[in-house]
Amino acid sequence: MGRVSGSGARGVAAEELRRHNLATVLEHLHLQGASSRSHLTTITGLNRSTVADLIGELTSLGLVLEEPGASVSGPGRPSPMVHLRPERASVLAVEVSVDSIAAATIGIGGHVFDQGRIARPRGHRDPETTVGDIAELARPLLSGLPSGHRLVGVGAAVVGIVRRSDGFVHLAPNLGWADLPLGAVLEDALQLGVPVRVANDADLGALGEHRRGGLGGAAHVVFISGEVGIGCGIIHDGKPLPGAAGYAGEAGHMLVNPEGLACKCGATGCWETEVGEQSLLRRVHAIEATSGLDAIDEVVRLAQSGDPATLAAISETGRWLGVGISNLINVLNPEVVVLGGLFHRLFDYLEASVIEGSRRALSAPYAMTEIQRSAMGVDSPLIGAAEMVLADLIDDPARVVAELDAS
Ligand SMILES: [Zn+2]
Repeated sequence: MGRVSGSGARGVAAEELRRHNLATVLEHLHLQGASSRSHLTTITGLNRSTVADLIGELTSLGLVLEEPGASVSGPGRPSPMVHLRPERASVLAVEVSVDSIAAATIGIGGHVFDQGRIARPRGHRDPETTVGDIAELARPLLSGLPSGHRLVGVGAAVVGIVRRSDGFVHLAPNLGWADLPLGAVLEDALQLGVPVRVANDADLGALGEHRRGGLGGAAHVVFISGEVGIGCGIIHDGKPLPGAAGYAGEAGHMLVNPEGLACKCGATGCWETEVGEQSLLRRVHAIEATSGLDAIDEVVRLAQSGDPATLAAISETGRWLGVGISNLINVLNPEVVVLGGLFHRLFDYLEASVIEGSRRALSAPYAMTEIQRSAMGVDSPLIGAAEMVLADLIDDPARVVAELDAS
């Protein structure tokens, strides 16, 4: 009996090791692009026959193809190049934000086949209408995928507090949604027969920036996105920091000003009462609108024209933004703080005051933190939604493909 269970355990260990090696090769191709077989051998530290075997399995799963390498000087035949087949592992990514909905078809390797974004009027759009609009936006993108494509899943980013396990939205105050099983509702509306995963938009923004934002391999990243409220997503040691159920990163509700204003959450002086859209528009007296993309467009226009009152208002917002960032620097010791959304648009005008405000952080972590503008503009959550689904595939491609083929 002992020998049987021993070899059984060895079998499990070998299987686990093979899965790990497959994931390593696939992840390298996903993040770094096409690679020669010999380079994959070098970076994995595996022997040549093992790598050939792994590539053979990825080929039979339809995820990669090999082409003869370009001839190079030196002895021996050139090593074959391994390319991903993005159409064979494509994702429908969707995003529900306050002012717009967006959808994109994105393949493994980060290849964006197509994408669309439509503005939606501010207000409490009901979930059914919103999901119907998403399905309509997605339909032409899906039918435009190359023939022979394989959809591996749907990833959805939503501006709310989401339970990761089933895509249940507890609360999305700026959409007027509460207790909505968004994952199930999307699955019903889209009828695609693939898994639907839902997560908070800022968490996915952080993931998108970390995977695709050109952060030079930084493993500790904080992503802060300004909209009506403040979204915050954290990458810790190369991985998302979701907390016990996915609710972590609600930095918009950190206390920064005990003498401040009442927040929607019921507390007083939360960070987003000082740096959210409303506080900015309140400070820019020249604008009558109290919310919306048009109002922010007007702020940007006034800032571009050098209007001193507008620049002062943006600086004040930037200073409070920096105060909150200093807390995050002290708690999380990030390498990079990425500013997205509203702060991406206003970055040039608030960078100096953000740096001034964040200087109150302890000097050692402060000195190693870079504060920068998002490289993706408003699309980081959408890109992150695709990355979330692709991460499942990369983690265990054989199992995911088998499940898709069986369904
Ligand atoms: Zn709050």
